[in-house]
This record gives sequence, structure tokens and C-alpha cells, in this order.
Amino acid sequence: MAGSDVYEVYAIEYAHRTDRRRSETFITNAWTDPVHDTDQAISYYVWAIVNAERTIVVDTGFDTDEAARRRRESGDVWQPDMRCSPAEGLRLIGVDAATVAEVIITHLHFDHAGTLGQFPKARFHLQEQEMQFATGPNMAHEYCSGAYTVDHVVEMVRHVYGRRVKFHAGRDVGVSVHHIGGHTMGVQAVRVRTRRGWVVLASDASHFDDNLEGMDPFPIVHDVEAMLRGFERLYALADGPGHIVPGHDPKVMAKYPAATPDSAGIVVRLDVDPTTS
Ligand SMILES: [Zn+2]
Repeated sequence: MAGSDVYEVYAIEYAHRTDRRRSETFITNAWTDPVHDTDQAISYYVWAIVNAERTIVVDTGFDTDEAARRRRESGDVWQPDMRCSPAEGLRLIGVDAATVAEVIITHLHFDHAGTLGQFPKARFHLQEQEMQFATGPNMAHEYCSGAYTVDHVVEMVRHVYGRRVKFHAGRDVGVSVHHIGGHTMGVQAVRVRTRRGWVVLASDASHFDDNLEGMDPFPIVHDVEAMLRGFERLYALADGPGHIVPGHDPKVMAKYPAATPDSAGIVVRLDVDPTTS
């Protein structure tokens, strides 16, 4: 398989947290007895889809100000280890955020839609339902609004008025976005044609491999049924279970090869087969 609609795909782990428990990963064990709980680290990623003609960034992560604010508000409980800024991580593979033309925002949660200002030339691809959700009545509930940062949402609203947002469930040669819902009303997954077949960046349609494999939803969820149907949709879109890339699983860093010697530990390549399963 060759040609301009085949892409390289990279995951950039810009932040990582170890201060959390496995019971925070599944809706079914949100009330797990603490004695039987175990540690479960979480990774924060942005992704890049690249070929000779195009560079598409998927999500824009969060910055150190956002991390400091959330840390303060959590009473020092929430302590991410910032590996780099999303823009710095992209630079490791030769992607300059300042000139990127296309950014897919999977959803507007704080860990996916911060640092928009680092992408001054970008058009943002967003699902209509995500903007509805993030600016609508659901946000009157803390449970729904907690993972959003109002400044990110307002910034994206400004970009709508600035004609920089394309709302779509559209299709493109080699890359397509797919409305999934569930985690938020408008979360979308990205399907990319690669040398190993169709790879699906699930983002938060499945946070961890275990959510998908166990059909066991993450506890931050707008619609459980949509999340379960979304898991099935991810399987249908990808060439195989090993072609689905979860949104927050540290295993991604262990499974896939480093993009370059310089970026080891921060950037892995997803368009080649995993080195372990
Ligand atoms: Zn997330």
C-alpha cells in the first residue's frame, strides 16, 4: 500500500500521572474496596498524522498553567508529571505547531483542547454535538463540566466566530473523523490509513485497552449506552483490535517503538506493528 493517502501516525506523551487508582478507570468498580484497589497510571497524549503532503495534529493537550491550576484546586492531589508541552513534543518529530494547518479536536476536555493558541494557523475540526454539549445545559452540572475548562471552550467559540472551526462528521482521503459520543456528547475518533492498515485513534472513546476489552466504561460518561456502542464501532472501524489506540493508556508507550532515538520515552510510532502485545 503506498500513495499520498497513507500516513505515519505518532503518539506524543506530553504528561503522565501515577497518583491514581485502578478503581478510577471503570464505572463498575467506582466503589471498589480500597484494600483491593491497585495503582493505575494514566498518560496524556496528543497525536500527529503525517505524510509528504499533509500534517494533521489530533488534540492540543494542556499546558503547565492548566496543570498548576488543577493541582491547586485538587488540594495537591492531582499531580501530573509534564514531560514537555504538546508543541515541544511535536517539534521532536519535526512538526511546527506555529504552521500546522489542520487540527482535529476529539473533544473539548481540558486535556485535549488546551494550548489552542500554539496553533495560530490551524483550522479546528470538531463535532457539532461537542460544541452543543460544552456550551449547553449539561454544563450546569459539575459532574459534566468538571473535565472542561471554560477558557478553552470560550477560546473555541471565538474560533467559530473567526471562521476557523469546521464542524463535521466528514470524510477525507486517508483520514476520517467518526462521531462516537458516550464519554462526552460529541467525542470523535480518527481513522487513518497506514502501511499496516486502518488504525483508529480512539481518544477518549476508550481511555484504556481494558475499557474496550472488558466493555467496561470509564466513569466520566455522558451516555453509557453510547459508550458501549462506541466500543463496537471502534472495532468495526479498525483492521483489528491491535489497530485501536486508546486515549490514555500508558501501555501505548511500552507497546510501540520510539519514533526516533531523540524522542524515546515521549514519542512512539503507531503506523508500525507493536513490538509487544
Ligand atoms: Zn482525556
